[in-house]
Amino acid sequence: MQKVVIVGGGITGLTAAYYLQEKAQQAGIEVDYLLLEQGPRLGGKIVTETENGFVVEGGPDCFIREKPAVLQLAAKLGISDKLLPSNDASTGTFVLSGGKLHQLPDGLMILVPTKIIPFALSPLITWPGKLRMGLDLILPRKKTASDESLGSFVTRRLGKEALDKIGEPLIGGIHGGNSQTMSLKASFPRFIKMEEEQRSLIVAMLKARAKAPKPAPPKPGEAKKTYFMSFKGGMQDLIAGLAASLAPEKLVSGVKVEKITARKGGGYSLALAKGETIEADAVILTTPAWDTAELLTPLDTAIAQELLNIPQASSATITLIYRKQDVKDLGSFGFVIPASEGRQINALTFTSVKWNHRVPNPDFVSLRTFVGGGRNQELASLPDTELVQIARAELADILGIQGEPVYSKVHHWIQSRPQYVLGHLDGLTRIEARLKEHHAGLSLAGASYRGIGVPDCVNDGERAATDTVAFLHQTGKSAAR
Ligand SMILES: Cc1cc2nc3c(=O)[nH]c(=O)nc-3n(C[C@H](O)[C@H](O)[C@H](O)COP(=O)(O)OP(=O)(O)OC[C@H]3O[C@@H](n4cnc5c(N)ncnc54)[C@H](O)[C@@H]3O)c2cc1C
Repeated sequence: MQKVVIVGGGITGLTAAYYLQEKAQQAGIEVDYLLLEQGPRLGGKIVTETENGFVVEGGPDCFIREKPAVLQLAAKLGISDKLLPSNDASTGTFVLSGGKLHQLPDGLMILVPTKIIPFALSPLITWPGKLRMGLDLILPRKKTASDESLGSFVTRRLGKEALDKIGEPLIGGIHGGNSQTMSLKASFPRFIKMEEEQRSLIVAMLKARAKAPKPAPPKPGEAKKTYFMSFKGGMQDLIAGLAASLAPEKLVSGVKVEKITARKGGGYSLALAKGETIEADAVILTTPAWDTAELLTPLDTAIAQELLNIPQASSATITLIYRKQDVKDLGSFGFVIPASEGRQINALTFTSVKWNHRVPNPDFVSLRTFVGGGRNQELASLPDTELVQIARAELADILGIQGEPVYSKVHHWIQSRPQYVLGHLDGLTRIEARLKEHHAGLSLAGASYRGIGVPDCVNDGERAATDTVAFLHQTGKSAAR
């Protein structure tokens, strides 16, 4: 039987294992696989911690419905009943500007205004800034097809104020990235298509909104479909659902792979930190780019160097749980903070307002703040106590929260948020070409390459499984000979 080793037990690795089984069965071939994870638990950046009825997300707290991969996977895994819509009643997001919180105007789609009256009435953007955004309606298309940064694109189409007050803080909050270095082609290809097809982003968004089908009402027992979705027990429900669908003996935690070398006649040898060696006909590496570079250095220094060129930002999430009477309810999901405000935190989510099932009863309010990412990355490495102090001082200043939190939890993500900077897709093309030419049966998948969101990782895990099954089907070799 042909053998596949998957390295990394985050969402990409587990999805690759799931689809490897499915695709092999569909192709009528027998495949044995083993997933190796260096840490003590599965999930990678998906970390949900549940304590005294508080459900705390250390990494992602949701996924977007627009990319259907997670919803489809949840249906296959039989966990659709665990899906959790966000609480629509409080959909507003605020922006801190000039020390005050302003609601993002209704009708703002990503960064683009699509409703004139709420936009005109919003005090967030000055009148010159609003007029500059309106210029998008008449500005010509970009002449060349070369890549540009998200910051340059937003400034060119909508102006600097739109970038500073809306684009940069939203992107910093969501991508943990810097809009001045972020590749538009790799991160927001949709904007390029809009400009190519419609010239004006405002026109393109209005047309897209008019065409978008209304989400079908949920069937009995089905979760309502909101833009952001999660799971009742937290994102860990997805990891648990995947793990339950796979044979436990195939998922091995606490095993670090140290290096990968090619075998004579095809296939790969994986040297484990414990001294053992494992043989495989095909390998799927779902480890973050810099870890993958280390694994591949003995095999291909050129690929390893390309991987090291993908910057990894550092960030931290700080969750604070307060008694309800200590927090003024904004009736919103939270707020983002532009760099120009000079704050140490970038954003805040009212977790227990956005989602049900996050606190045991309405007497508690759960807040999550972010530091690092696109700016102030050095803060991410501070000790937990200092980060809690920073978050509390900022929240006291911005929201007037004076009470003691009843619970706090910090999660650090050091050099582990991939940044798709200008040239990212060119680097990826060079990596793919080398893999194809020199390393048959070796796939790289995960957040460092084709999308950082959980749905992107699910898509990439499936893609890697499909490619691997096609390769095995073609070669029909066995490592067990
Ligand atoms: C704070 C934060 C908030 C986020 N918010 C969102 C959000 O709300 N929505 C969203 O869609 N996305 C969000 N993301 C992004 C998303 O969570 C990640 O991109 C995704 O979970 C990455 O999955 P992965 O499987 O590719 O990588 P990882 O989760 O990093 O998994 C890789 C695994 O490989 C293992 N590994 C590494 N080296 C070795 C080795 N040598 N041997 C064996 N194992 C190894 C690691 O231990 C790890 O478990 C967020 C990310 C962070 C950090």
